[in-house]
Amino acid sequence: MKLLLRFLPEMIKSPLISEIILETGAKLNINKANVAPSGGEIVIDIPPDKVEDVIRAFKVRDVKVIVLEHPVIRDDERCVNCGACISICPVDVFEFGEDWSVDSNVDKCVRCGACVYGCPLCALSLGEEDV
Ligand code: SF4
Ligand code: SF4
Repeated sequence: MKLLLRFLPEMIKSPLISEIILETGAKLNINKANVAPSGGEIVIDIPPDKVEDVIRAFKVRDVKVIVLEHPVIRDDERCVNCGACISICPVDVFEFGEDWSVDSNVDKCVRCGACVYGCPLCALSLGEEDV
């Protein structure tokens, strides 16, 4: 399960990730991090059995938590299976299927956004779901 975490500026000096790893025992994998004095945004991957504990631990600390059930969303009405996203995506989310349509495995997505800007048909967008 992937979570998108949004940190306020006053939070970025605190070792929140380390605290939560120690508190929950969850092996968090950081997929993407963008931290600046104005705040931060981090995408983490967490084991399924630790999802509730980790979400609770971040929310107690007032971190905004967004579950990325669908990190990237494809509009199948727009997609023409051109395959451009296959070469753009750095983590191989997309691939041609046997019938040459483009399949996706969004569990791999690290939400970098590259495909959203690269799709010539504007068929891709980043999804979010608040908890
Ligand atoms: S780049 Fe866009 S139109 Fe082309 S296969 Fe990917 S999602 Fe479909
Ligand atoms: S957002 Fe980035 S990682 Fe996710 S599918 Fe698009 S290119 Fe791949």
